[in-house]
Amino acid sequence: MISIENLRFQYPRSEFRLAINDLCIETGAKIAVVGPSGSGKTTLLNLIAGISVPDSGQVIIDGETVSRLAAAARRNSRICNIGMVFQQFELVEYLNTADNIRLPFLINKTLLPKSGKSDIGRLTDCVGLVDKLKRFPNQLSQGEQQRVAICRAMVANPKIILADEPTGNLDPKNKSRILELLFEQCARHDRTLVVVTHDVNILGGFDRIVDFEQFREEGNGHDGLV
Ligand code: ADP
Ligand code: MG
Repeated sequence: MISIENLRFQYPRSEFRLAINDLCIETGAKIAVVGPSGSGKTTLLNLIAGISVPDSGQVIIDGETVSRLAAAARRNSRICNIGMVFQQFELVEYLNTADNIRLPFLINKTLLPKSGKSDIGRLTDCVGLVDKLKRFPNQLSQGEQQRVAICRAMVANPKIILADEPTGNLDPKNKSRILELLFEQCARHDRTLVVVTHDVNILGGFDRIVDFEQFREEGNGHDGLV
């Protein structure tokens, strides 16, 4: 379970303020996060992932207060527990598709399944990347890069998948295939899925929608987000 309590966050020298008093995401839940551009959706994912830390309040994942861990421990916790699809993909430019997807195992060998056999074949087949495994990111379209990022987030079967507008660059067929893949992995392994999206057509598949509008009323009695 992801639990956020009394969180306050501000970037240095920025007017933007995020205030979340109480947000609970149950294990196995599929959550869509919606809200206007600039309202803090990416910031929220970074706080859950421990990439950013709150100024006050806490982010608790399965009983562990990740926001209180030192940087190295937070990074380690993220590598072991979280698969992240970044809004800008963040692929490693000098690694080909196969190695980009394999990156979690290159960083931490213990994430490899005991059988030693990873899911890369099945995932790349499912998202239509099998003939692109040797290509580098700059030889891929935006939509292909996005699919590589999605495979990388799923390959180690993490407890939590955080996906930042993961269908933004995909055609309708790839979009539904990828959502099915994400939903199926979560259902099969009781994994938690948090997806930031602007796409109202896909909201029906989620258990719950977290709308950033609601945080406007929280915080210090008036605007949580400025
Ligand atoms: P969203 O993902 O909902 O579009 P973000 O979480 O990316 O919004 O950003 C929320 C606000 O914080 C925006 O006003 C943005 O300009 C600001 N912001 C984002 N990243 C930084 C940063 N590294 N430094 C300062 N301000 C930032
Ligand atoms: Mg964003």
